[in-house]
Amino acid sequence: MPIRSKVLAICIASIAVPAYAQHGIDANDIRREGVPCNDFFDYANGAWRAAHAIPNYMDRWSRRWESGEINKEHVRDILADVSQKTDWSKGSAEQLSGDFYAACMDEGRVNALDIKPAQPLLDEIGALKTRADVQRAIAHLHDIGIAVPFGLFAAQDLHDPTQVIAHLSAGGLGLPDRDYYLKPEKRFVETRAKYHEHVAKMFELAGVKPAVAKADAQTVFAFEKRLAQASLDNVALRDPKQQDHKTRYVDLAKLAPSFSWDAYFDAAKLAHADLNVTQPKFLQQVDKELRTTPVAQWRIYLGWQVLNAGADSLSAPFVEENFAFNGKFLTGATEMKPRWKRCAEATDNQLGEALGKKYVEKYFPPEAKARTQAMVKNILLAMGDAIRALDWMSEETKKKAQEKLAAFNVKVGYPDKWKDYAGVTVVRDAYWNDVMSASRWNVDDGRAQIGKPVDRTRWGMTPPTSNAYYNPFLNEIVFPAGILQPPAFDVNAIDAVNYGAIGVVIGHEITHGFDDEGAQFDAKGALTNWWTQQDKDKFGARAQCVVKQFDGYFIEPGIHHNGKLVLGESIADLGGAKIAWLAYKKSREGKASEPTLDGFTPEQQFFIAWGQWRGDDIRHETQRTMVQGDPHPIAKYRVNGPLSNLPAFRETFQCKADAPMVRPAADHCEVW
Ligand SMILES: [Zn+2]
Repeated sequence: MPIRSKVLAICIASIAVPAYAQHGIDANDIRREGVPCNDFFDYANGAWRAAHAIPNYMDRWSRRWESGEINKEHVRDILADVSQKTDWSKGSAEQLSGDFYAACMDEGRVNALDIKPAQPLLDEIGALKTRADVQRAIAHLHDIGIAVPFGLFAAQDLHDPTQVIAHLSAGGLGLPDRDYYLKPEKRFVETRAKYHEHVAKMFELAGVKPAVAKADAQTVFAFEKRLAQASLDNVALRDPKQQDHKTRYVDLAKLAPSFSWDAYFDAAKLAHADLNVTQPKFLQQVDKELRTTPVAQWRIYLGWQVLNAGADSLSAPFVEENFAFNGKFLTGATEMKPRWKRCAEATDNQLGEALGKKYVEKYFPPEAKARTQAMVKNILLAMGDAIRALDWMSEETKKKAQEKLAAFNVKVGYPDKWKDYAGVTVVRDAYWNDVMSASRWNVDDGRAQIGKPVDRTRWGMTPPTSNAYYNPFLNEIVFPAGILQPPAFDVNAIDAVNYGAIGVVIGHEITHGFDDEGAQFDAKGALTNWWTQQDKDKFGARAQCVVKQFDGYFIEPGIHHNGKLVLGESIADLGGAKIAWLAYKKSREGKASEPTLDGFTPEQQFFIAWGQWRGDDIRHETQRTMVQGDPHPIAKYRVNGPLSNLPAFRETFQCKADAPMVRPAADHCEVW
């Protein structure tokens, strides 16, 4: 979801072919010497973590991440099978996905071609002479999905959620966010030095002489730093109001007079219609660059952006250098994923709905869909009960909150209408061109929505994706088949476990509709206030409690979570655990008690399921990168943070009032 793409990079194993025979929680994963009321994260699956080192190619590891990797094996099996046949009809889902995967897997050919497939594009950029040439190059890069230095995407009008308009976004940075360019702390200084080396190395691989490559890297950094200075930071990016700047088309020329907007919109086949400029200050900076930065520097900057965006579709040296910086250095992973896995990911990324149909046929039975839908229904009802019971909110605001809840659109498993990818050309001996053709199709598919009524059937994630999201524009919650797999969800597990794992995820996504960001959108997805001032103030004070709690979570001396950055996710975890618990209890009313496991009551299994699904082992480098830019807290605090605020947890494990997993009354947080 464009405006909050970083935010929605949210929040996982198998049914037809079980990954393991275990259904429900695994008592062997529990660290029995641990004390649940002291550190539940350590207790719930400390034994599993001690026995399972993070694989070299991963930045985090748990049964949840393992399940996500198993999905990739399933995708691989489908693609390997489809690609056995070479006479599928041209343009069919099988031909496109099978040949795309086969072209990617032909590493010998990709390596032999080296930089050649990207050369025409690099030559085009190398030949830029005038500012008009620069603008044409930007438009061309946008056509193939390289959104630099700004981007254009399709999304609802923030004030008329029935219509899709164009949004101009900021982009064009090679480092994760603006702070990496500007902050004085040692870790940022080190990252900047590494980044200079990395950019220079990529230029060298593309044939630039070492001394020139070094100077070019400095040019790139200085260019990006100026863009960074004009960009919003990660906390501001979570505030939709800061990106709400509806602009008349004719006023674009006032904002950025040096850019030929007519030429750009005409080339993109887009009407000259009003749009949203998410970051006006950034666009003004781009305009200034057009006026003042020599075209020679634009050639260097845009050339780098092509190498950066295309590295993984080129030969091994590019792939390896890209991994050395973006993988090894930034996440701490020491090995690249095997090529088949990267190719399965790339195919899913570009043509996910072409292979997704087969994926759900094989790994997502109708029974799983029905069970999930029933759980979602119960958890939505529990949210309704929770809102009704709030003692701090007025009836007036409650009514609006209930209206919003009643309007939630729920998507489970896979889209009802599949993308056809008509016009994408995929051949087995030209992987780079295949990627470009699919990227172009995806860009056109987005642009085709602009100026039309909102199509509510579209999905923002592919079916095999082991993730879920809430989209505030559409007021919808979406659970792809890829996350509805053990141990998150298992048709053979008891309700306590399913509600404790996927149930909390469902509750989490529902609560996103009412977190500090989601609560600014109404039932229809318009950015509009539906709160009384008094209730808004009370909500703010409750949110501040969560900010303070997470500000106090350190990953190393001097580095702690930024409570404001992780606020939305933390409100969602806190509310999610609460309403999944309420829904579980209610769903069991009048029924026989579920079985105990190894002495653990069903209620205890509910919380252990959350601890085991959510808790993971994580590399230190990844923790640093997440704390800086990820709106999600690290898993330890996603387990201990919300549970230490929940009376139900305290009662279930009979924790004493002064136990570490029980926040003192004065610090106790509850939002929903
Ligand atoms: Zn979330």
